[in-house]
Amino acid sequence: MQDIRRTLVAKLFSDPQDFIGKEVDVKGWVRSRRGNKYVQFVALNDGSTIKSLQIVFDLNKFSEEDLKAVTTGSSIHVQGILVESMGKGQSIEIQANELQVYGSADPETYPLQKKGHSLEFLREKAHLRPRTNFFSSVLRIRHALAFAVHKFFNDKGFYYFHTPLITASDCEGAGAQFQVTTLPLNELPLDKEGKIDYSKDFFGKMASLTVSGQLEGELGATALGCIYTFGPTFRAENSNTPRHLSEFWMIEPEMAFYEIEDNMDLAEEFIKYCINYALEHCKDDIEFLAEHFDKELPERLKFVVENDFVRLPYTEGIRILEESGKKFEFPVYWGVDLASEHERYLVEEHFKKPVILTDYPKEIKAFYMKLNEDGKTVRAMDVLFPKIGEIIGGSQREEDFDKLNGRIQEMGLEGMDWYLDTRRFGSVPHSGFGLGFERLVLFVTGMQNIRDVIPFPRYPKNCEY
Ligand code: ATP
Ligand code: MN
Repeated sequence: MQDIRRTLVAKLFSDPQDFIGKEVDVKGWVRSRRGNKYVQFVALNDGSTIKSLQIVFDLNKFSEEDLKAVTTGSSIHVQGILVESMGKGQSIEIQANELQVYGSADPETYPLQKKGHSLEFLREKAHLRPRTNFFSSVLRIRHALAFAVHKFFNDKGFYYFHTPLITASDCEGAGAQFQVTTLPLNELPLDKEGKIDYSKDFFGKMASLTVSGQLEGELGATALGCIYTFGPTFRAENSNTPRHLSEFWMIEPEMAFYEIEDNMDLAEEFIKYCINYALEHCKDDIEFLAEHFDKELPERLKFVVENDFVRLPYTEGIRILEESGKKFEFPVYWGVDLASEHERYLVEEHFKKPVILTDYPKEIKAFYMKLNEDGKTVRAMDVLFPKIGEIIGGSQREEDFDKLNGRIQEMGLEGMDWYLDTRRFGSVPHSGFGLGFERLVLFVTGMQNIRDVIPFPRYPKNCEY
């Protein structure tokens, strides 16, 4: 970690012996200031770590006037000597020799004063939220997880495959889509039948933002072998829950020659790898979040990494739920699409472990999933997590042209010829899954609301910044 324009505070804390007694340059934002008429202490945070560095201003060297603009939120550059701290609460500090104030912050109007703001308040100030301890921790963990995703797949020989964000296939099936158009909405061109004439639209046809890159991903996998996507995904569902966003990031690996068991093995290995990576590389941030929000977080993370996930057919899951004697808000019966309360009962109360639920009824799953011999269930696999519910949804794909085409006809899906070509020419058994990146970040940070793990959340009736 190096920056030629400044010494990163993270570096000073990780290798203090390299710097003690030497002059260093630090630059960052003032978190707080306190002191007396002899000495002033400033907590400086530069974003490189949750830890703020104490800067000591000797008032023999600096006047009150020099320090006037050094208020919470202001940005400064300090040159000084790094020393071991005598005070409690920090190991090192800087004895300031020179001060440059880049930008002051008026204490009357700067919204983030020192003492704890609620997460709700900070959501209203999402544009300044990255400057808080809690959110900078979330963002560093988010970064580490994104890096871990790429590292995991790259090391396994998967190719990062870019699927389109604007798509004309309206049958991705995963959710309601946002339309993309340049047509004048108050003066729509109509055809002879009085329907909107999309030939006049930008792409000459109706287009939307993607809800999943999977179908295109399958074309990548049936050429390159193993691919993964990692990009934004858009769903226009009116889901005002702590686990849904209208714009979220999804990771979708797709693997030629993988059967459902291989798919489950990969999903489990992948998610454990990511959590382990965060445990190793984000210790300070996880500790901070644990201390302030969720005491059991480190234990929960370690538990998931160290234990095998339970693998259970849907039919068994339904039986367990029916026999639980528990009053659920939504009724349980074979064929029902499980609600979050059902998923969490299995995970948190019954097994007390992550669960991979398999072999769902075909009616509640997408058309491309491989039909089982029973003719009723498909080779789906959802990974269910404590506190989250579904974190991964995946399946073995139907590789048989006739069966897949039959499903497509049954459901009246159009424009799928390009997709069917994967089964028409050199079809192979293959599988894949989708992991909602924010649900992973939610789990690893222990936060309660998905809106608190993405810098600028989009959800119904909210599109600020
Ligand atoms: P859910 O039932 O929770 O709404 P889903 O079954 O519609 O999810 P899939 O289509 O299987 O979701 O998408 C794969 C993964 O993407 C999910 O397992 C989840 O982690 C994530 N995901 C889906 N919808 C959202 C959303 N609106 N916001 C954030 N993540 C999502
Ligand atoms: Mn799903």
